Amino acid sequence: MSWLHTEGGASWSVFVAAFLGVAIWESLRPRADLSESIERRWGRHSLLLLVSFLVSAVLVPVSPMIVAASVAGSRYGLLNKPWLPLATRWILAILILDLAKYTAHRALHSFHFLWRVHQVHHSDRDFDVSTSVRAHPIEVILFRGASLATIAVFAPPVGAVLVAELTSVFESFFSHANATLPAWLQRVLGVILYTPDTHRIHHSVDIRMQNSNFGDIFPWWDQILGTYQPPSPAAEIVIGLEENQTGANPGFTWMLKQPFLKPGSSPPGTEPATSG
Ligand SMILES: [Zn+2]
Repeated sequence: MSWLHTEGGASWSVFVAAFLGVAIWESLRPRADLSESIERRWGRHSLLLLVSFLVSAVLVPVSPMIVAASVAGSRYGLLNKPWLPLATRWILAILILDLAKYTAHRALHSFHFLWRVHQVHHSDRDFDVSTSVRAHPIEVILFRGASLATIAVFAPPVGAVLVAELTSVFESFFSHANATLPAWLQRVLGVILYTPDTHRIHHSVDIRMQNSNFGDIFPWWDQILGTYQPPSPAAEIVIGLEENQTGANPGFTWMLKQPFLKPGSSPPGTEPATSG
């Protein structure tokens, strides 16, 4: 049960440290100029994060570690079998939880209403550390549900679930950094982790690029399942969605309503496109 006691403190520590670390990195070596001030972006995205946190706490008031602890002694499940070496159970647990997130993310791009929900994330015309928390509460609930269901079915070790969760928090901020790694570090790190240059491709307006690099921590699922696009240092990537390239940036309330609006709706303050 000691893993459970470290959960809250460890999660918040990694959350704050990863956010601040990436934010400082971005301020020192920004990859691209942002189209509006950081204060406006971070204010809007913080509100979305707060609402997602509250909705999630009310609708799914259970953490992955609590679910893992509750199914640890069950007769079903694969990853709680004592005949399987502990190291193998840990490795399989981290890989399977990552595959569940890859699958959930791919589903968000594959089904009409789920894509409407996920468009809140992709409609950001900029790409920085705050983009990682720009997700509609429905998407947050879906991702959480996918993780909890996977844990309930496979009964992975509680410690492995904690390590997977903390790595995912770090990776979410790191892979959305408005910064770029030195070429040699990209080559080394890109073999085992999603880097900002790899994930930036997924945020392109180009639909073929959007439908690639769905992974959360490891790039291996994309590589195995044929959806991987390696980063190209020379490539200029336009971020966002084709229909959101002009006009006002969507505000907080508009982003909450976005999945339920008619496709192609524009945020208030957006001038109709003119040809000239
Ligand atoms: Zn996506």
